Amino acid sequence: MPNNISNTIKLKVERVKCKSALKFEAVFPKNEGSWEAQLPVWRPGRYERGNFAQYILKMVGIDDRGEEVKLEKSDLHRWIVPSGIYRLRWIFQADILNAGSTYVSDDLQYVNPVNCFIYDSNNHDLRYKIDLSDIDSSWDIATALPIVDGHLIARDMQHAMDSPWMAAPKLWHQEYTVNEGEQNVKFHVWTYGDAPPQPKRFMDDHIAFSKSQISYFGSFPCDEYHFLYLLPSEMDARHGVEHEESTVIALGPSERIQSDKGYDELIGIASHELYHSWNVKRIRPSEWTPYNFAKSSPSRLGYIAEGVTTYMGDLFLLEAGCIDLKGWCDKMEELFFRHLNNPGRLNLSVADSSYDTWLDGYRPGVHGRKGSIYVEGSVLAFLCDTRIMKVTDNKKSLSSAMKILWERFGMPRIGLTADAYWDILAEVAGERLDDLRLKYADGTEDTWDDLVSAMEINGLKLSQIKDEKGIVKVKLTVQS
Ligand SMILES: [Zn+2]
Repeated sequence: MPNNISNTIKLKVERVKCKSALKFEAVFPKNEGSWEAQLPVWRPGRYERGNFAQYILKMVGIDDRGEEVKLEKSDLHRWIVPSGIYRLRWIFQADILNAGSTYVSDDLQYVNPVNCFIYDSNNHDLRYKIDLSDIDSSWDIATALPIVDGHLIARDMQHAMDSPWMAAPKLWHQEYTVNEGEQNVKFHVWTYGDAPPQPKRFMDDHIAFSKSQISYFGSFPCDEYHFLYLLPSEMDARHGVEHEESTVIALGPSERIQSDKGYDELIGIASHELYHSWNVKRIRPSEWTPYNFAKSSPSRLGYIAEGVTTYMGDLFLLEAGCIDLKGWCDKMEELFFRHLNNPGRLNLSVADSSYDTWLDGYRPGVHGRKGSIYVEGSVLAFLCDTRIMKVTDNKKSLSSAMKILWERFGMPRIGLTADAYWDILAEVAGERLDDLRLKYADGTEDTWDDLVSAMEINGLKLSQIKDEKGIVKVKLTVQS
């Protein structure tokens, strides 16, 4: 029912004059009785509460005479809307610039709907017709949302929440296409702020890792995909967030963006985020299928969502020729450095740490309490990958298992469980990997001996030295 007005929320977005704030005005379809208006409490990609209501400066209903009506809350992020009120007006403070935030200035309107869109808690199927009323028609708009007659259209609440946009007087923009079997996938690369570093190499690397990832999976989840780069010249940033048909990647300031290290960071984040198009946007833990934005949603599977993605994102840079073996070894040394110097990995398993990201997963927290789904998860993915390659004489790998997960869970959108994941790894390997699961996913055993053996299988020698302060330094060398 794409054009049925009774299924549409008409939403107008504009900047509060000269302020770092956005005014939203939404007309919801008429329904019977009072209803509840919900703001998300978290956003996918950050598995903790974002408590976005802290940025709501004002929230009112508008009655049929155009008068403002005060709304009472029934929860921290939920407002009771009295019978007969269908129009809501709210003001959102928009002065944080990162890959998951909402920000407005003289030359940028950058919106992550999951921060600031209200939805009807009882009707998630309503489509959004979004009117960027104060954006000049000459401005560029980067988004995966279709633009119809000057309006951005989201087919339902989940689609809206997963589709950021950035609008600016001028955005750098290039495209490329990857063909896989019958499928032609069109990619857009947009940047706000700085131009990308080494633009020719930047685009070549995007093409290379996109081709490589798509060919391993055999298909891409959508036919059009957008990389939205926020490259503020004078602001510190380093962050990426995945979406179903796009990603936002932030890096700044200019000295960092234009340095060799900054280039490597951007490409590293980009490959990671693209891998998320399959792993987590489609191959998704059952707790997040679908996302429930109204409450905390802990899962023990962060070591798959972020661990496998971190490992694979880097591995595909090597596969695609964006980095060489030395570059990959540098990344693994850095990974092992973080892994071995975190005593928390020996205290709380990565599965339990995943559940607890909702408490303090993105902060240092109590020293030695927990592991990281990114670091410990990536180390575990490496051990699983090497095991599968070893027992199958290099005929299969973790990528083979991810392809099966894409076909059986991602495509039909069936929520993933830990048992299903380990079953598919076993199916691919021809034997169970329960020792790895027991020791390093659900347990807290030291990985060192298994890491040394796994690197040996890969023709690399892993060694460590402890300095006088007890900090472990690792070295990876090609075996002679
Ligand atoms: Zn990620």
